[in-house]
Amino acid sequence: MPIYQAPTRDTLFIIKEVIRLSDYSNLPGFEAATPDIVDTVIKEAGKFASEVLAPLNASGDQEGCTRADDGSVKTPSGFKQTHEQWRESGWGTISAPEEFGGQGMPGVLGFAVSEFMAAANMAFAMYPGLTNGAVSALLAKGSPQQHQMYVPKMVAGEWLGTMNLTEPQCGTDLGLISTKAEPQLDGAFAITGTKIFISAGEHDLSENIIHLVLAKTPDAPEGTKGISLFVVPKFTVEPDGSLGERNTVSCGAIEHKMGIHANATCVMNYDGATGWMVGEENKGLAAMFIMMNAARLGVGIQGLGQAEAAYQNGVAYAADRRQGRALTGAADPEAKADPLFVHPDVRRMLMDGKAFTEGMRALALWGGLLVELAEKAETEEEREQADDLLGLLTPVIKGYGTDKGYDVATNMQQIWGGHGYIVENGVEQFVRDARITMIYEGANGVQAMDLVGRKLAKNGGRAIQAFFAMVDEECAGAKDTEMLSDIAERLEKANGELKAATMWFMQNAMTNPDNAGAGAHHYMHIAGIVALGLMWLRMGKVAAQSLADGDGDAAFYEAKLVTARYFAERFTPDAGALRRKIESGAESMMELPQTAFARN
Ligand SMILES: Cc1cc2nc3c(=O)[nH]c(=O)nc-3n(C[C@H](O)[C@H](O)[C@H](O)COP(=O)(O)OP(=O)(O)OC[C@H]3O[C@@H](n4cnc5c(N)ncnc54)[C@H](O)[C@@H]3O)c2cc1C
Repeated sequence: MPIYQAPTRDTLFIIKEVIRLSDYSNLPGFEAATPDIVDTVIKEAGKFASEVLAPLNASGDQEGCTRADDGSVKTPSGFKQTHEQWRESGWGTISAPEEFGGQGMPGVLGFAVSEFMAAANMAFAMYPGLTNGAVSALLAKGSPQQHQMYVPKMVAGEWLGTMNLTEPQCGTDLGLISTKAEPQLDGAFAITGTKIFISAGEHDLSENIIHLVLAKTPDAPEGTKGISLFVVPKFTVEPDGSLGERNTVSCGAIEHKMGIHANATCVMNYDGATGWMVGEENKGLAAMFIMMNAARLGVGIQGLGQAEAAYQNGVAYAADRRQGRALTGAADPEAKADPLFVHPDVRRMLMDGKAFTEGMRALALWGGLLVELAEKAETEEEREQADDLLGLLTPVIKGYGTDKGYDVATNMQQIWGGHGYIVENGVEQFVRDARITMIYEGANGVQAMDLVGRKLAKNGGRAIQAFFAMVDEECAGAKDTEMLSDIAERLEKANGELKAATMWFMQNAMTNPDNAGAGAHHYMHIAGIVALGLMWLRMGKVAAQSLADGDGDAAFYEAKLVTARYFAERFTPDAGALRRKIESGAESMMELPQTAFARN
């Protein structure tokens, strides 16, 4: 049976000592997050994830969801009771606005909690997770009446939300949407079409399901300029808030898939279902992007969560399993063999896992802070800077975070050897569950193009230039500290590779756009290396200072410094190789005609 313990010590270190949440107590909502409250939220959420959600992860995977002939869907045993418990504990309400029944706490705490939940049981966490994104979109673009009608129940977890973009012919290219929205005399719309792959499209966890659906009105322009957003409840809602008629939206099938078996992935049939427009006509994609951006950060956190859960099991197995002897001589001569931990190649995978998960946690939580600074920081300049950085880092958190999260999960399976391939040991589930994170919410190739094609050029490159300057400045500030100088120099060099790659795109992508597409994946990975490098520098600084001050827990801070050094030595050099790949351009990649790929 796999283990999972929420890494609360590490999370609290990042929130309190690295991000220093208490420094922002002047901002709305942050004043409530006193150090004691932060401790309690993180520890209790960790307990819920480890003790309630994690034990249902393997059984949920084995049992999966089932659809009955009437289109209803049953989630695995224990999910409904656990959702009740989740609701009553208020885990979904932490950073939701107080006026709609939320606790109004900083989003950083919500992000931390969502990592624990996604690590413990990703399939379960997706049910309330998507609801948070739907709430953000409704709050940003919905009418006051829509806010009152849906948001309080969704915040309370009584109703759950979904996101309906994908259709059989329309995946990445949303311009191909064909679901129709016919205006009705009463101001509502009749929605008709088929959506596929809809996570949590139908289930038995909540009394109502609020679908956010992209569709086209009759005379809408072609492509993405003609998409509108609609709210389509499973049960319509009466003016007094009670449930009305069963709407004509139903689940036609559920998918049998590689992982997240306990999350129902549904084909949703809309047969003239009653829906209401959210925001302006033909501006639906912008509205849906609010949900998608929140979801992209959430998916990056899923990648981290799966890596963390797999890592903990890799560590446990490497300590327990004994095979062979250390290269330097028997580590435990009394026993017949040494633990796997002694083998440098096993250490390589464990250190990669440790350096990635701890660095990625810091990046994701910083992302959570930026979400709020973009909205709540005191000056326009600070809000703009946070928004720029968040826009730049969102595809990195999603794309790099899930690519590497999957790598870590497979490496941990590797540590388990053949036993990692055997279903009953539970480690292969992390690999299967992590795999979808690279595909949905915009496949990672699309994230890379969002970074290179849109985010770099936006506002004349203002965001990336600010990021370069921030990294350089923090490196310069660390070079005089003996424990950090090598780490800072290596990061500065990786930042130089990112600058060179950016310059190369500026000079070569206009003449041949394929040059941008051919290098985008590598660029996203250099950006990930530099972003995590910056996090390791920040964590290293705190650790060095704490050791110098003689603060307690020296072993924790020493481990941070060694891991920062490992990251600098083993991750940052890849930036140079990736930059050289980018500079080789698109030629050999695009030269062959399609026919040359066929065999025989
Ligand atoms: C388990 C699961 C849950 C899902 N949940 C939801 C949900 O809740 N709501 C929802 O609306 N959808 C959902 N999806 C759909 C998911 O978001 C899409 O599968 C995804 O966006 C990719 O679309 P596609 O599968 O049609 O792939 P395609 O668009 O056909 O793309 C195939 C591949 O081609 C590449 N590619 C395509 N276009 C580009 C491009 N422009 N640049 C670079 N590379 C490109 C990518 O590598 C991509 O992986 C889910 C899917 C799965 C499997």
